[in-house]
Amino acid sequence: MSANVPPVDRVAAAQRSIAARQARAAVKARISAGELPPVRALRDAPGSSYERMRVTEFLTSIPGVGPRRAEDILDEVGVSPRKRLGGLGVRQAESLARYLARGITRAERAQNRLFVLAGPTAVGKGTVAAYIHNQEPDIMISISATTRLPRIGEVDGANYYFVDDATFDSMIADGEFLEWATVHNAFRYGTPRKPVEEALAAGRRVLLEIDLQGARMVKSKMPNAYRVFLMPPSWDELVRRLIGRGTESEEEQARRLETAKVELASVSEFDAIVLNDDVGRAAREVVGLMSC
Ligand code: 5GP
Repeated sequence: MSANVPPVDRVAAAQRSIAARQARAAVKARISAGELPPVRALRDAPGSSYERMRVTEFLTSIPGVGPRRAEDILDEVGVSPRKRLGGLGVRQAESLARYLARGITRAERAQNRLFVLAGPTAVGKGTVAAYIHNQEPDIMISISATTRLPRIGEVDGANYYFVDDATFDSMIADGEFLEWATVHNAFRYGTPRKPVEEALAAGRRVLLEIDLQGARMVKSKMPNAYRVFLMPPSWDELVRRLIGRGTESEEEQARRLETAKVELASVSEFDAIVLNDDVGRAAREVVGLMSC
């Protein structure tokens, strides 16, 4: 069929498609920059130069909305992620507009300041978090409680609160944890709730450096938390880093590598992936994501 289309028409069609792509990119850039309210962009979409923009593309151009959040919003308003703005039914467009116009409530805004940094063992989450702590003192890095023993050089109250099993049990019983988990089938780790809630209420951004189970629990309790997955450059590099730091016994290393396989398989659950090829670069990328 297309062989019968006169070349002039094909050139014109290609030009129209380039112009439409540019129009979509320009609208997304204006939404990202806060110049164009998303509700207005949605209202004006039918018949516009950007009507073929996919709803997911539209939502992820809104500051603070990552792919996971976009998926949740679309799920809530009952719109398929494959829909284009111009193809929304009247009722779909209305419920999406209502969601956006309602804006984000105070609680949601606080949750939007909560960030999770997860990723497999030895990928360097702790090092990246420490770098962020030094460079961005206004970001609160949560200090977890753990039942594992301190490693050489670790300081109680700075790296972790090192507690015994009985203390950890009573912290659970008293509802003191935002989340907690048994990690690598060995020790328990938990995020103390109060300091996190106080920092969020004071308008600070908070970063939790936790494992996959904790990341899932935070997501279920605070769906607007933004979750970043720190990725090693390769599996071999991960093994090299784990063995190289020499802080675990061979048995513990094997256990951690088993967990790492499970953690790596969960990457699609996250809002963003950051490659830890260089600590400073990765930390800056995480801070960039926290500043959107
Ligand atoms: P490590 O023993 O190497 O310091 O930490 C082991 C694992 O526990 C890491 O994956 C770390 O992210 C995770 N972890 C540290 N603190 C917490 C926490 O408060 N909650 C959960 N769920 N995991 C944590």
